[in-house]
Amino acid sequence: MKPVYLDNNATTAIAPEVLDEMLPYLKDFYGNPSSMHTFGGQLHKKLEEARERVAALIGAEPGEIIFTSCGTESDNSAIMSSVDSNTDKRHIITSSVEHPAVLNFSKHLARKGYRVTFLPVNKLGQLDMEAFFKALDDNVAVASLMYANNETGVLFPIAELGATLKDRGVVFHTDAVQAIGKVPINVKELPVDMLAISGHKLHAPKGVGALYVRKGTRFSPYILGGHQEHGRRAGTENLASIVGLGKTCELAKTHMVEEIARVQSMRDRLEKELLERCPQARVNGDTKNRLPNTTNISFEFVEGEAILLRLDEHGICASSGSACSSGSLEPSHVLRAMDVPPTAIHGSIRFSLSHYNTDGDIDKVIDKMPPIINELRALSPYGR
Ligand code: PLP
Repeated sequence: MKPVYLDNNATTAIAPEVLDEMLPYLKDFYGNPSSMHTFGGQLHKKLEEARERVAALIGAEPGEIIFTSCGTESDNSAIMSSVDSNTDKRHIITSSVEHPAVLNFSKHLARKGYRVTFLPVNKLGQLDMEAFFKALDDNVAVASLMYANNETGVLFPIAELGATLKDRGVVFHTDAVQAIGKVPINVKELPVDMLAISGHKLHAPKGVGALYVRKGTRFSPYILGGHQEHGRRAGTENLASIVGLGKTCELAKTHMVEEIARVQSMRDRLEKELLERCPQARVNGDTKNRLPNTTNISFEFVEGEAILLRLDEHGICASSGSACSSGSLEPSHVLRAMDVPPTAIHGSIRFSLSHYNTDGDIDKVIDKMPPIINELRALSPYGR
């Protein structure tokens, strides 16, 4: 049975076009792009083509793209570089709803003596702007605020935040791992200094990412060793995956407008039907300002894990809370920060769509979900 895969914020399928373009670099062209001989050295061109394609998706210059091993590395590098390049400043601003790639790195720096402000959000998951303005002082080394939330899809006002941070001369990093390819981003118009990208959220393989670093931003490498990536990120390049990342960015750029419309209309239909057919269901997050592919719905008084297991029996893949925190029954830090009641947090399910979903997938979930919720609710001690 082909799964109905609605967990694309956790990871995505590799696009066939991406795989086709990668395969020669896993099979025949296995040289090292830094080698002097022609066999390896010729691969440098392919590496630079991928850099151009990633840059083109976000309106950057190719020289502003550094390839990394994943979104987590891009986030860690951006924050560490900002801290290392501004040694006189000891304050980091971030938010309480970031992905662990930023959250846990910030907590690590807090343990090392940095002051970290974790900005709150409101019930809709929107950033508390008053707290943001209040947190800005002369000691801020970096502000790291996410573009789009992985659990709810809620978008932060990056342009507005960036304009203020630019005025104050504060380095601004945004974790755009969930936003890339799902919403248009143009760094020519967007006042960000660094921006994190991950391949596997965008139909490229796992284990490849990129960091955009605006020209003129002081950069201090996080991974030290050889002089790959112009000395900004050591380690022999994962060429096949980088080629895949380049190809996927090219596809995203070409098809973005029609894809956003198609995916959003499927997501909206799924959400509307589930809310209508399942009593005591509610959407978490600002529905007017979020990614087109994500919906996070709480089915109150039901355990999310039980819903997932029942969906799984029908070949439907979704997630409760963030993929990275599944496996533990800790309630989602994002929904807690939004002050979602515990009974709703525990019954929250995230559906995240992609280019490969069909209307048939949505029909199947709309059909299977209401009886699952009714049955589980009847078993629940809180059932009503
Ligand atoms: N940032 C966000 C918002 C994410 O959703 C994720 C992955 O779920 C990451 C960072 C980490 O990316 P990667 O899995 O490539 O390390």
